[in-house]
Amino acid sequence: MGNNGKSNPDDLLVSEESAALAEDTVEIPSTDGMTIITIYRHYCKGCEICSEVCPKDVLKMVVATDRWEGSIVEVVNMDNCNACMLCEHQCPDFAIEVRSLKKEKRKKAKEKIAGEK
Ligand code: SF4
Ligand code: SF4
Repeated sequence: MGNNGKSNPDDLLVSEESAALAEDTVEIPSTDGMTIITIYRHYCKGCEICSEVCPKDVLKMVVATDRWEGSIVEVVNMDNCNACMLCEHQCPDFAIEVRSLKKEKRKKAKEKIAGEK
């Protein structure tokens, strides 16, 4: 081992940074647990695109003094989300992700049927 088994200070810095970023990721499930929105707050630059395109008023911009002087998107109405994915597709910074377990189940069922043919 080139460093005599000692941890490299640069590696330590990188892992502390990764831990801090992971802490700044929030996952919000719907009440039925079928839809989950994940917000990577550290990537959000507060451009408001997602909150403007959302047809269900699920998203809102909030001042995020813990991060910077601007705002960051927040989920305010999770159970209204229809998993249309518009927010995820329109976000230029990959800061928001939508997972629909219903859609995933449907897709798997279709693939199974297609595989049986
Ligand atoms: S579109 Fe992306 S970067 Fe812009 S506010 Fe929404 S999550 Fe943040
Ligand atoms: S998936 Fe659609 S309804 Fe849900 S938050 Fe995004 S834009 Fe709004």
